[in-house]
Amino acid sequence: MPTAVISDIHANASALKTVLEDIDRRGVSRIICLGDIVGYGPDPLECVDLVRQRCAWSLMGNHDFGVLYEPTNFNPGAESAAFWTREQFAKEPSEKLLAERYDFLGRLRVRVVETPPGGAVPLLAVHGSPRRPINEYIFPDDAMNGPDKMQGIFERVDKVCIVGHTHVPGVFTDEPDFYPPSELGDACYRFMEGEKAVVNVGSVGQPRDLDPRASYAIVFGPDEGAQKTPLGYVQFVRVPYDIDATASKIRGIPELSDWLGERLYDGR
Ligand code: ZN
Repeated sequence: MPTAVISDIHANASALKTVLEDIDRRGVSRIICLGDIVGYGPDPLECVDLVRQRCAWSLMGNHDFGVLYEPTNFNPGAESAAFWTREQFAKEPSEKLLAERYDFLGRLRVRVVETPPGGAVPLLAVHGSPRRPINEYIFPDDAMNGPDKMQGIFERVDKVCIVGHTHVPGVFTDEPDFYPPSELGDACYRFMEGEKAVVNVGSVGQPRDLDPRASYAIVFGPDEGAQKTPLGYVQFVRVPYDIDATASKIRGIPELSDWLGERLYDGR
Protein backbone atom coordinates (compact mmCIF):
# COMPACT_ATOMS: atom_id res chain seq x y z
CA MET A 1 0.00 0.00 0.00
CA PRO A 2 1.65 3.29 -1.08
CA THR A 3 1.79 5.99 1.61
CA ALA A 4 1.24 9.68 0.89
CA VAL A 5 3.43 11.92 3.06
CA ILE A 6 2.21 15.45 3.73
CA SER A 7 3.85 18.15 5.87
CA ASP A 8 3.77 21.85 6.78
CA ILE A 9 0.11 22.47 6.03
CA HIS A 10 0.21 25.68 8.06
CA ALA A 11 -3.54 26.11 8.39
CA ASN A 12 -4.03 26.44 4.64
CA ALA A 13 -7.27 24.46 4.09
CA SER A 14 -7.52 25.34 0.40
CA ALA A 15 -4.11 23.71 -0.22
CA LEU A 16 -4.79 20.75 2.09
CA LYS A 17 -8.17 19.89 0.53
CA THR A 18 -6.68 20.09 -2.98
CA VAL A 19 -3.84 17.77 -1.97
CA LEU A 20 -6.23 15.30 -0.31
CA GLU A 21 -8.32 15.24 -3.52
CA ASP A 22 -5.17 14.58 -5.55
CA ILE A 23 -4.20 11.72 -3.22
CA ASP A 24 -7.73 10.25 -3.49
CA ARG A 25 -7.69 10.58 -7.28
CA ARG A 26 -4.48 8.51 -7.37
CA GLY A 27 -6.12 5.81 -5.26
CA VAL A 28 -3.64 6.20 -2.39
CA SER A 29 -5.51 5.39 0.81
CA ARG A 30 -2.83 5.78 3.46
CA ILE A 31 -1.61 9.24 4.51
CA ILE A 32 0.87 10.33 7.18
CA CYS A 33 1.72 13.90 8.26
CA LEU A 34 5.09 15.26 9.40
CA GLY A 35 3.74 18.19 11.41
CA ASP A 36 3.18 21.95 11.31
CA ILE A 37 -0.52 21.43 10.76
CA VAL A 38 -1.14 24.96 12.07
CA GLY A 39 0.65 28.32 12.24
CA TYR A 40 0.72 31.21 9.69
CA GLY A 41 -2.56 30.35 7.95
CA PRO A 42 -6.25 31.18 8.45
CA ASP A 43 -7.80 27.68 8.88
CA PRO A 44 -6.19 25.95 11.89
CA LEU A 45 -9.29 24.13 13.19
CA GLU A 46 -10.35 22.83 9.78
CA CYS A 47 -6.83 21.59 9.06
CA VAL A 48 -6.45 19.83 12.41
CA ASP A 49 -9.83 18.16 11.93
CA LEU A 50 -8.92 17.01 8.39
CA VAL A 51 -5.59 15.58 9.56
CA ARG A 52 -7.32 13.85 12.49
CA GLN A 53 -9.80 12.27 10.10
CA ARG A 54 -7.58 11.44 7.14
CA CYS A 55 -4.09 10.64 8.42
CA ALA A 56 -2.91 7.37 9.98
CA TRP A 57 -0.79 9.56 12.28
CA SER A 58 0.91 12.94 12.48
CA LEU A 59 4.09 14.25 14.07
CA MET A 60 4.47 17.44 16.09
CA GLY A 61 6.08 20.40 14.30
CA ASN A 62 7.51 23.53 15.88
CA HIS A 63 4.33 25.49 15.12
CA ASP A 64 2.05 22.84 16.63
CA PHE A 65 4.33 22.93 19.67
CA GLY A 66 4.21 26.74 19.67
CA VAL A 67 0.43 26.80 19.75
CA LEU A 68 0.04 24.06 22.34
CA TYR A 69 3.00 24.94 24.60
CA GLU A 70 5.16 27.96 23.70
CA PRO A 71 6.58 29.51 20.54
CA THR A 72 10.37 28.89 20.34
CA ASN A 73 12.59 31.12 18.16
CA PHE A 74 9.57 32.58 16.33
CA ASN A 75 9.77 35.91 14.51
CA PRO A 76 7.11 38.50 15.53
CA GLY A 77 4.78 37.60 12.63
CA ALA A 78 4.93 33.88 13.42
CA GLU A 79 4.43 34.53 17.13
CA SER A 80 1.39 36.74 16.52
CA ALA A 81 -0.05 33.99 14.28
CA ALA A 82 0.62 31.39 17.01
CA PHE A 83 -1.26 33.42 19.62
CA TRP A 84 -4.18 34.01 17.23
CA THR A 85 -4.26 30.26 16.45
CA ARG A 86 -4.30 29.46 20.17
CA GLU A 87 -7.37 31.71 20.58
CA GLN A 88 -9.20 29.91 17.78
CA PHE A 89 -8.78 26.56 19.56
CA ALA A 90 -9.85 28.06 22.90
CA LYS A 91 -12.97 29.71 21.41
CA GLU A 92 -14.52 26.38 20.29
CA PRO A 93 -18.03 26.29 21.82
CA SER A 94 -18.31 22.48 21.79
CA GLU A 95 -16.49 21.18 24.86
CA LYS A 96 -16.23 17.73 23.30
CA LEU A 97 -14.60 19.04 20.11
CA LEU A 98 -12.33 21.34 22.10
CA ALA A 99 -11.12 18.41 24.22
CA GLU A 100 -10.68 16.14 21.18
CA ARG A 101 -8.49 18.70 19.40
CA TYR A 102 -6.27 19.35 22.41
CA ASP A 103 -6.03 15.61 23.01
CA PHE A 104 -4.98 15.05 19.39
CA LEU A 105 -2.36 17.82 19.51
CA GLY A 106 -1.08 16.68 22.90
CA ARG A 107 -0.51 13.13 21.66
CA LEU A 108 1.48 14.08 18.55
CA ARG A 109 4.82 12.28 18.59
CA VAL A 110 8.13 13.90 17.62
CA ARG A 111 9.67 10.78 16.08
CA VAL A 112 8.23 7.64 14.46
CA VAL A 113 10.04 4.65 12.93
CA GLU A 114 7.97 2.38 10.72
CA THR A 115 8.17 0.24 7.63
CA PRO A 116 5.02 1.25 5.71
CA PRO A 117 2.66 -1.62 4.72
CA GLY A 118 4.14 -3.10 1.54
CA GLY A 119 7.41 -1.22 2.00
CA ALA A 120 10.91 -2.72 2.20
CA VAL A 121 12.74 0.11 3.92
CA PRO A 122 12.15 1.36 7.47
CA LEU A 123 11.43 5.07 7.54
CA LEU A 124 12.47 7.39 10.35
CA ALA A 125 9.97 10.26 10.36
CA VAL A 126 10.67 13.60 12.06
CA HIS A 127 9.53 17.16 11.43
CA GLY A 128 12.95 18.85 11.49
CA SER A 129 15.96 16.55 11.77
CA PRO A 130 16.95 13.24 13.40
CA ARG A 131 19.06 15.18 15.94
CA ARG A 132 16.51 17.82 16.90
CA PRO A 133 13.18 16.47 15.69
CA ILE A 134 11.12 19.61 16.23
CA ASN A 135 13.43 22.54 15.53
CA GLU A 136 16.53 21.77 13.43
CA TYR A 137 16.51 22.82 9.76
CA ILE A 138 18.36 20.79 7.12
CA PHE A 139 18.88 23.29 4.30
CA PRO A 140 19.90 22.38 0.73
CA ASP A 141 23.02 24.54 1.26
CA ASP A 142 24.10 22.28 4.13
CA ALA A 143 24.91 19.53 1.61
CA MET A 144 27.61 21.87 0.21
CA ASN A 145 28.62 23.96 3.21
CA GLY A 146 27.88 21.86 6.28
CA PRO A 147 29.75 18.54 6.01
CA ASP A 148 30.01 18.14 9.81
CA LYS A 149 26.33 18.93 10.27
CA MET A 150 25.35 16.45 7.55
CA GLN A 151 27.59 13.78 9.05
CA GLY A 152 26.01 14.30 12.47
CA ILE A 153 22.57 14.01 10.93
CA PHE A 154 23.31 10.90 8.86
CA GLU A 155 24.84 9.19 11.91
CA ARG A 156 21.29 9.12 13.25
CA VAL A 157 19.73 7.69 10.07
CA ASP A 158 19.71 3.92 9.47
CA LYS A 159 18.51 4.07 5.88
CA VAL A 160 15.84 6.65 5.01
CA CYS A 161 14.59 9.60 7.03
CA ILE A 162 11.57 11.67 5.95
CA VAL A 163 11.34 15.31 7.04
CA GLY A 164 9.59 18.63 6.43
CA HIS A 165 10.26 21.97 8.20
CA THR A 166 12.26 23.88 5.53
CA HIS A 167 9.34 23.79 3.04
CA VAL A 168 11.88 22.90 0.30
CA PRO A 169 11.38 19.42 -1.24
CA GLY A 170 14.25 17.20 -2.33
CA VAL A 171 16.60 14.38 -1.38
CA PHE A 172 19.80 14.61 0.66
CA THR A 173 22.19 11.68 0.22
CA ASP A 174 25.08 10.84 2.51
CA GLU A 175 27.68 11.88 -0.11
CA PRO A 176 26.56 14.52 1.06
CA ASP A 177 24.51 15.87 -1.85
CA PHE A 178 21.10 17.45 -2.45
CA TYR A 179 18.77 16.77 -5.36
CA PRO A 180 15.66 18.92 -5.89
CA PRO A 181 12.82 16.96 -7.54
CA SER A 182 13.51 18.77 -10.84
CA GLU A 183 16.96 17.10 -10.97
CA LEU A 184 15.61 13.61 -10.33
CA GLY A 185 14.16 13.01 -13.80
CA ASP A 186 10.52 11.83 -13.34
CA ALA A 187 10.55 13.44 -9.84
CA CYS A 188 11.19 9.98 -8.37
CA TYR A 189 14.04 8.88 -6.11
CA ARG A 190 14.75 5.15 -5.90
CA PHE A 191 16.02 3.90 -2.54
CA MET A 192 19.37 2.22 -3.08
CA GLU A 193 21.37 -0.42 -1.25
CA GLY A 194 24.36 1.13 0.51
CA GLU A 195 23.04 4.69 0.39
CA LYS A 196 21.30 6.71 3.10
CA ALA A 197 18.79 9.41 2.26
CA VAL A 198 16.96 12.23 3.98
CA VAL A 199 13.82 13.01 1.98
CA ASN A 200 12.12 16.39 2.44
CA VAL A 201 8.55 16.19 1.12
CA GLY A 202 8.11 19.99 0.90
CA SER A 203 5.15 21.97 2.19
CA VAL A 204 1.45 21.61 1.45
CA GLY A 205 0.44 25.06 2.64
CA GLN A 206 3.47 27.35 2.26
CA PRO A 207 6.05 26.12 -0.31
CA ARG A 208 9.37 28.03 -0.26
CA ASP A 209 11.19 26.73 -3.34
CA LEU A 210 9.77 29.46 -5.62
CA ASP A 211 7.11 27.05 -6.90
CA PRO A 212 3.76 28.13 -5.40
CA ARG A 213 2.06 24.77 -5.99
CA ALA A 214 1.34 22.58 -2.95
CA SER A 215 4.01 19.90 -2.43
CA TYR A 216 3.80 16.36 -1.06
CA ALA A 217 5.28 12.91 -1.76
CA ILE A 218 4.21 9.29 -2.15
CA VAL A 219 6.35 6.40 -0.87
CA PHE A 220 6.03 3.18 -2.89
CA GLY A 221 7.13 -0.31 -1.87
CA PRO A 222 9.05 -2.69 -4.19
CA ASP A 223 5.93 -4.09 -5.87
CA GLU A 224 3.98 -0.85 -6.00
CA GLY A 225 3.67 2.04 -8.44
CA ALA A 226 4.99 2.40 -11.97
CA GLN A 227 8.63 1.65 -11.12
CA LYS A 228 9.72 -1.81 -10.09
CA THR A 229 12.66 -1.34 -7.73
CA PRO A 230 14.07 -3.70 -5.07
CA LEU A 231 13.73 -1.20 -2.20
CA GLY A 232 10.90 1.01 -3.40
CA TYR A 233 10.96 4.70 -4.21
CA VAL A 234 9.52 8.11 -3.39
CA GLN A 235 7.67 10.30 -5.90
CA PHE A 236 7.39 14.08 -5.45
CA VAL A 237 4.06 15.65 -6.43
CA ARG A 238 3.02 19.30 -7.00
CA VAL A 239 -0.57 20.47 -7.17
CA PRO A 240 -1.89 23.95 -8.03
CA TYR A 241 -4.55 25.18 -5.60
CA ASP A 242 -6.69 28.30 -5.02
CA ILE A 243 -4.17 30.69 -3.44
CA ASP A 244 -6.63 33.61 -3.61
CA ALA A 245 -8.97 31.78 -1.22
CA THR A 246 -6.26 31.56 1.45
CA ALA A 247 -4.66 34.99 0.88
CA SER A 248 -8.01 36.81 1.07
CA LYS A 249 -8.85 35.10 4.38
CA ILE A 250 -5.42 36.14 5.73
CA ARG A 251 -6.06 39.75 4.69
CA GLY A 252 -9.29 39.66 6.70
CA ILE A 253 -7.55 38.62 9.95
CA PRO A 254 -5.60 41.52 11.56
CA GLU A 255 -3.41 39.21 13.66
CA LEU A 256 -2.10 37.51 10.50
CA SER A 257 0.33 39.69 8.51
CA ASP A 258 -0.74 40.26 4.86
CA TRP A 259 2.75 39.07 3.88
CA LEU A 260 1.74 35.55 4.94
CA GLY A 261 -0.72 35.62 2.04
CA GLU A 262 1.52 37.47 -0.42
CA ARG A 263 4.38 34.98 -0.06
CA LEU A 264 2.10 32.11 -1.17
CA TYR A 265 1.92 33.55 -4.71
CA ASP A 266 5.70 33.42 -5.08
CA GLY A 267 6.35 30.20 -3.18
CA ARG A 268 8.74 31.81 -0.71
ZN1 ZN B 1 6.64 24.60 8.76
